[in-house]
Amino acid sequence: MTEATPMDVSLDAFSLPLAAPLSTAAGDITERRGYLLQVECAERGVTAFGEATPLPGWTESLDDCRAVLDDARDALRENDFDRALTVCRDAPAARHAVSLARADLRARREDVPLYRHLGTSTARETLPVNATVGDADVDETVARARDAVDAGYPCLKLKVGVRSVDADLGRVRAVREACPDVALRLDANEAWSREAAHRAFDALADLDVAYVEQPLAAEDLAGHAALRDGHPETPVALDESLARFSVERVLAEGAADVAVLKPMALGGVDVARYAARVAERRGAAVTVTTTIDAVVARAGAVHLAAAVAPNRAHGVATGDLLARDLPTGGDERPLPVEGGAVGVPQGNGLGFSVGSIE
Ligand SMILES: [Mg+2]
Repeated sequence: MTEATPMDVSLDAFSLPLAAPLSTAAGDITERRGYLLQVECAERGVTAFGEATPLPGWTESLDDCRAVLDDARDALRENDFDRALTVCRDAPAARHAVSLARADLRARREDVPLYRHLGTSTARETLPVNATVGDADVDETVARARDAVDAGYPCLKLKVGVRSVDADLGRVRAVREACPDVALRLDANEAWSREAAHRAFDALADLDVAYVEQPLAAEDLAGHAALRDGHPETPVALDESLARFSVERVLAEGAADVAVLKPMALGGVDVARYAARVAERRGAAVTVTTTIDAVVARAGAVHLAAAVAPNRAHGVATGDLLARDLPTGGDERPLPVEGGAVGVPQGNGLGFSVGSIE
């Protein structure tokens, strides 16, 4: 569907320093670089925003993202979102920017918050989030866990797989003893062999773990299915696997109880919303997470989560990982995190505007 009114389109590069260096599979990173897409429909006086923040290993490169967005810009000037999305089909981060700008534009025209546009009729002012406890020795892990529970977080996410299985089991056991009621999620980021994973799952059976994320290599769907068969008390969530396989395939192979949806890696909030619907139909749960994005993409993820799974804790409270964010103006920062929940913006569309980037 081509809408005729021409649009003003701007694309601005940004670079945001991280609060602390982050180690990823593709090496340490100290900043997040990406593009802010702004589309303005002058005739209707509506401005909408999208964000592309590529992450090596998950999306196209920064250079490829720029090239694709430059191509898509011509289609956007003609207000042809369908053509722009086609141009971006093999570049998830670029496609994310275009699809979010389209959704934001439509929601602003409808005078509704984005999460309402994305498919829920229920008002939602806050969304539970998980605290990222990360990897540390036992004492530090327990200290971080206690701090998060004291701050009101209903759910903790521990990184496992950096240390030995026995060391990780000691950490998980200590956190479970210190915080008996909190929901505990573990993320192994593909670190375990099948043998190590079965040993870990044996020991986790009585520790009431909400799920283990990506215990095995992304391509090992059969291994994950076998883990689920052998250990029904500990659910399996898949994250990296969804960058390689469709959610239909992952669930058809019985490889996951939970689908971890990263809109930036999947190619947009529309794609992620579709994946959430597939998961729901197949009885799987979803967790929405960011890829340490700037505020526009984080807001997109918050709205999506509020639309598809508002009662679950999501991995979207990642703003503190940035030392600086895109300028949003106003006195209040969008997406405040308090008491283990993030505020869901209630204004039209994303709920805020972004100022000019220095
Ligand atoms: Mg993960």
